[in-house]
Amino acid sequence: MNVNHDLKRHHGVKNVLLDIDDTLWENNIFFLQSLEWLCGEARQLGIPDRATTSMLNQWETFNIRWKGFGYDSYESSLLLTTGMIARRAGRLDLHAGLRTKALAWTTFLKSHPIQWRPEVEKSLPLLTKKFRTIIVTKGNPKDQMGKVERCGLKHIFDAAEVVPHKHKSCYLDVMKKHNLKAEETVMVGNSPRSDINNAKRAGLRTIYVPHPKTWYREMEPILSDAPVTVEVEHFGQVLQVLEP
Ligand SMILES: [Mg+2]
Repeated sequence: MNVNHDLKRHHGVKNVLLDIDDTLWENNIFFLQSLEWLCGEARQLGIPDRATTSMLNQWETFNIRWKGFGYDSYESSLLLTTGMIARRAGRLDLHAGLRTKALAWTTFLKSHPIQWRPEVEKSLPLLTKKFRTIIVTKGNPKDQMGKVERCGLKHIFDAAEVVPHKHKSCYLDVMKKHNLKAEETVMVGNSPRSDINNAKRAGLRTIYVPHPKTWYREMEPILSDAPVTVEVEHFGQVLQVLEP
């Protein structure tokens, strides 16, 4: 792993690209709570957790392919899985009730209050004062910008970009659009795949802020290639990495 723990490593940075979900605020824990609920319902019908999780994951893989990332995609996966659970248990009479509860979960996912990650509320205003700060998040623009609005701090960011995927080309597009030089820009986030490795492929230095509940689809070893990645313990240390 090419991860540097020297907190003074990134010099000369003027622009900060910032992930939001599971970097600034909690996100995946709420999806995991809905999965826990689903497993509990299925368990009562004799279906093991592993089978329920596998059904949901398969529907997610299918839906992400044609609907992209976002709540609509997840809602569809959750509803389809309730159908499979009811059929597998031979209890189609329970399907309508499971669907109603699943919809209540997705309503909650779309509207719950923002729960900040440690040290973010204190250090984010300082970070945005000192650096040009642009949110780069993937998913459905309506979902993602809804959270940015709900956080109450939209005004402190210089811009927000919602991309369908955080591929190398998406980072290059964002840099071109905002006229950013790679050597003056870092990407900060919790996802090794989307925030770190693909940003590195676009020539960006990165700051990895791990989250213990990062979505399993985002986990992979951090590339050993340059540019350098600095790992921090919490968001409050991001400023220490960037300050001269
Ligand atoms: Mg994230």
